[in-house]
Amino acid sequence: MGLTGLLRQGSRPLICGAVQLLPPALVLDALTAALVDDDEIEVTTDLHCEIEQDHVGLHAAAVRLLNNSPPRTVWTQWVDWRDPEVVVVLPDCPEVNGGPPGKDDRCTLFASHPGTCSFDLVDPEHEEFLAANPAYRHLFERERPQGAVTDLRPRPEDSPAD
Ligand SMILES: [Zn+2]
Ligand SMILES: [Zn+2]
Repeated sequence: MGLTGLLRQGSRPLICGAVQLLPPALVLDALTAALVDDDEIEVTTDLHCEIEQDHVGLHAAAVRLLNNSPPRTVWTQWVDWRDPEVVVVLPDCPEVNGGPPGKDDRCTLFASHPGTCSFDLVDPEHEEFLAANPAYRHLFERERPQGAVTDLRPRPEDSPAD
């Protein structure tokens, strides 16, 4: 099977997926980029560009999710073959996929991002892993920290099993 056959996943576009590491100095910048009262602060240093492949402009990866409203996220951006040099706090893309509650999905990219929204993009690495480990799908659903969640209705799988 050729590379094209391997990468074609129906008609959904792929993510860019360009990989990069967040330099230590920017980890500190990401921690101080936004003063938000989060219990847990996690900075992602293992980056892959989350925009649709063949996009224009800089590569971009979310490095820190914020518990705030209106929703914003700390991003880093970089030019091909160069280390990221900045972190920026950007408002989230407001698009949702319009699915029924529980199946709806927010775009996890930043507002005015190039290309397709995240819920219509395919990450081949994730898809490959999930095909082998379907029980781990929740790991790839990016949950906003508690507090910024407006829909607090219990999901059916949270109910006691009896
Ligand atoms: Zn990219
Ligand atoms: Zn979007």
